[in-house]
Amino acid sequence: MKVLSNLTLEELENLALELNEPKFRAKQLHNWIWTKSANSIEEMTDLSKVFKEKIKEIAVLSDVKIKNKQVSTDGTMKYLLEYGDGECVETVLMRFDNRANLTACVSSQIGCACGCDFCATGKRGFIRNLTAFEIANQILTIQKDSGLKVTNVVFMGQGEPFYNFENLNKAIKLINEYLQIGIRRITVSTCGIVPRIYDMAKGDLIPTLALSLHAPNHNLREKIMPVEKKHNLDELKKSLKYFNEQTGDRITIEYVLLGGFNDTRECAFELSKLLKDIKCNINLIPYNSVSETKYKKPDKKDVMMFKYILEGSGKKVTVRLERGADIDAACGQLRGKILDKLKS
Ligand code: SAH
Ligand code: SF4
Repeated sequence: MKVLSNLTLEELENLALELNEPKFRAKQLHNWIWTKSANSIEEMTDLSKVFKEKIKEIAVLSDVKIKNKQVSTDGTMKYLLEYGDGECVETVLMRFDNRANLTACVSSQIGCACGCDFCATGKRGFIRNLTAFEIANQILTIQKDSGLKVTNVVFMGQGEPFYNFENLNKAIKLINEYLQIGIRRITVSTCGIVPRIYDMAKGDLIPTLALSLHAPNHNLREKIMPVEKKHNLDELKKSLKYFNEQTGDRITIEYVLLGGFNDTRECAFELSKLLKDIKCNINLIPYNSVSETKYKKPDKKDVMMFKYILEGSGKKVTVRLERGADIDAACGQLRGKILDKLKS
């Protein structure tokens, strides 16, 4: 069986021709799938009964199943999605105060090979890359289920997007063209795969870049992020400057505050200095404790002090609100918990 939501417009056109239908039927089909988020072939009212029957004989609409869904008291929804091969991925839908803004947090891989010491996904290792359609279908599936239109996408779920670079770029194209989400509303978060930062800066569809920094110097960073051994802070900084120059865009610097580890005043001052000549906003993320790791949440007063010191350097600093804490939908907690529960 073919899967309609895994086909490009051109492939749908070929399908229409194979079924002796005019080419424009494919455009109608495509609209139902990607613009109207149809839940079934039956509901595609402007297609003839005969055509729909012919399609149903050879194709299904989607092969992504919703295995589990949890809704937080703050409106955050966490989905466990299952692909055709039985592998699962978690995707989160977040509402912020501004009701018109709906952000999907998507995964780019199943598992992750980078092994950051504080991250639940990293602790589980790498399983496989997701295809571009598997990534785009995360958004489509939650739109279909919730009846809501996603307005923003962040690649901050499982996986290192820059280690799945080709599919990432194809997925960005699908999200932009098929799901009609503006390129400025798409953010890709990376732990710092330097050569890919250069590649992204040279690309023709450039999303917002978010860089997981998490430490103000090489020694501290190396302790928590193995990637620092491969691409060190000096190299990384050069690539960020290049990204600034090439695109003119501001970078988002993510900094997870690990209580007692990287949340001191000294770290804040050192970070200010490090970022002085980078055009960026800073997003501080109080750590969400994950049972597999030894790190802990920072104290509120340390978070405020850290923010205050950074603001002194003239940067815009935000503290990430914890979303969906009651359903473990926060960063670094994706994958595992629901799967563990389902297995037990
Ligand atoms: N691999 C990419 C994108 C996925 S992780 C990256 O590392 O950037 C998205 C963000 O969540 C990263 O900044 C990551 O460091 C952070 N994160 C991971 N575990 C976390 C946790 N337990 N608490 C808070 N943030 C976490
Ligand atoms: Fe991978 Fe990102 Fe987790 Fe590091 S923080 S292990 S790069 S998902």
